Formats: sequence, structure tokens, C-alpha cells
Amino acid sequence: MDELERLLSDLVSINSINPDLVPGSPGEAEIANYIADWLKQADLEVELVEPVSGRPNVVGIARGAGGGKTLLLNGHMDTVGVAGMPDGHQPRIDRATGRLYGRGAYDMKGGLAASMLAIAAARKQRLQGDVIFAAVMDEEFASVGTMDLAKRLHADGAIVAEFTELQLILAHRGFVWLEVETIGKAAHGSRPDLGVDAIVKMGKVLTELEKLDQYLRSNPTHPLLGSGSLHASLIQGGQELSSYPERCLLHAERRTLPGEKPEAVEAEFLQIIRELQQSDSSFTAVVRRGIDRSPLETSEDAEIVQALQAASAKVLNRPLQIAGVQFWTDAAVLSAAGIPSVLFGPSGSGAHAVDEWVDLASVRTCADIYLVTAVDFCK
Ligand SMILES: [Zn+2]
Repeated sequence: MDELERLLSDLVSINSINPDLVPGSPGEAEIANYIADWLKQADLEVELVEPVSGRPNVVGIARGAGGGKTLLLNGHMDTVGVAGMPDGHQPRIDRATGRLYGRGAYDMKGGLAASMLAIAAARKQRLQGDVIFAAVMDEEFASVGTMDLAKRLHADGAIVAEFTELQLILAHRGFVWLEVETIGKAAHGSRPDLGVDAIVKMGKVLTELEKLDQYLRSNPTHPLLGSGSLHASLIQGGQELSSYPERCLLHAERRTLPGEKPEAVEAEFLQIIRELQQSDSSFTAVVRRGIDRSPLETSEDAEIVQALQAASAKVLNRPLQIAGVQFWTDAAVLSAAGIPSVLFGPSGSGAHAVDEWVDLASVRTCADIYLVTAVDFCK
């Protein structure tokens, strides 16, 4: 095994399942200590910070001579569970295909290993600016790790090393959670003259939400992402079989495009409620806005994008393909904190699935491109 294979095998062999996803799981402490030791061996400044007790972020810094820009390489240490995997924490290399199998190999210990090799090599280059590598906790649940990191440090550009099949990801959607509650009137089931059925009233809301979703999806406006979307997630209501239900509660999720603000999404819902009220005097409902996460959109002109493209031209003799992804990521947290951020990472398959693997050659390519990017960006 060479250095990369050994490092990635070690990372995969350490169970770092997120305990908020699978209660009783060990979390990030052991893998954080492994990474911290590895970074110290590579002569980096290393700091562990615990956003949650016992669940650290690790930050390694290749300190520059001064005067250059700061590059952040970011990746998460936590993984989802291993249900259905016979030996998820026993890494296996298939020499015929060049794949390394195991939980987290693809999402995203491959990206972590590539970042670690890159920053260790950058340390030897005597750059002007700092290169920072942050291995964060809790991406798979609530992104507490990157949110804490974004409060503590600034950088002039960030690469989140999630798997992207070697594409350069500049955009993804955000989301807003909303609650709609319809208010009925409880009454004996035999008394339609007294009761108002909150569940039937919610049916009207659901019909309008479906129309809104169809409208959004048939009017794509974003070149990389298409349109926003909307779905009902959870519903509850009613007291018992023989009574008119006095309330019905719906939780819905609206996926948002760059530029679509949570306030505007709430206004869409309020508009639906207002129109239903106008056509039905017994219709009463309230809307409550829950948490939201911002979309990601980084300009092709951003310096981090230019540096990555220049690096790809050197390493791969071609520019990286620019794309958007469907899912939300930590890159949006960094971007919202004022750090121009992109996603760029290895190829493979099986994130959150039973058969997970990463392509080792693509991990090596990422390490090379991160390093050449750092040298150019931080010179
Ligand atoms: Zn991930």
C-alpha cells in the first residue's frame, strides 16, 4: 500500500458514525485524534475545537510567510450508519478496478485523505498565504461543525472536498421548512351543523401546494439547477373517529434557488391561505416558517474557481466541467459566511448505500489539483 491507500484505509477503518443519526454511535472523537496526529506528523499547526462536547472539529494550518491569500479545504468526518453492510469498517482495495470499498470511502473520507495529502505537501512549499484544512463533525445531521468553523475563521476561498465525480460544483439549492395549521371546530360526528373539518380544509391547501410545485417545475430559471420545488413531508390531525377534527398540521419543505429568500417562500404560502379564505368563509389557517438553509451560488469569475481551473489545466490538461448538484451541502454555510466556496472531489458510488466505494485514481487527482490550486491561490 502506498501513503494514500494506507491513510484512506485507516480513515475508513475508524467508525465515525454520527450519533445523532444512529444513537449510541461513537461520533468523531477517535477519527479526529487520528487526523490531528497525522497533521502534526506533517508539521502543521493543529487545533481541536469541540462544538459539541466529545465531538471535535480538527483544524490544521500550513502557515504561510505572510501576505498571500488563505485557502480552506473542508471535509466532514462523520458518516451514516452501516446497517446491511457486513464489514463497513473493514476497508478493501480491489486492485482490478482501483476501488477502495467501505463506509465513508466515498462520502467523504476519500476527500479528507486527498485534502490531507495536499496540505502536507503545501506545507513544504513555503507559500505566502495560509492553507487551512478543516475536518468537521456532524455534516450528516445538522452541520454544527462547519457552522462553528465559519464563526471562527475566515478564508479567501474554500473547497469542500465532497464527492463530485471530478466536476466543479458552483451551485446547489437551499431549503425552507414551513408548517401550515388548519383550524376546524370539534363537534360530534353527527353534527355537521356545528363541526368544521380541519383535515378536509387541509386538502384544499395540499391541492394548491401541488399546483405551486407544478408551476415551479415547469418554469425552470436557473442554468445549473433548473427550478425550485415543494413537497409535503408530514401531516397529522384529528382527535378520534367519531368527531370533527379541530386541527390539522402539515409540515412542508420548499427547495429554493439562489435568490429565493425564505420570506418570499413564506409569502407564497400566505398567498395560498388568503385565496382559500376568500373563497371559503369557514376556512382558517396559519403559516409558520421553520428553519432554512441558503442555496449555493459561486461565480465562475471567483478567484477560487479560476485557481481550480488553472490547476486542472496543469494536472488534467483540461478545464473541469462546471455543474450544480441537487442536494444541500456545507459549502453554503461557508459561502453565507462570506467565503467564496465550491465543491470538488473524487468519483465513486454508494453514498449512504450498502455498497460504497471510491475510485483511488480520482482521489489522487484531487490531491494533485488541491495542491496546485493552493500553490497558485496562496502564492
Ligand atoms: Zn458528505
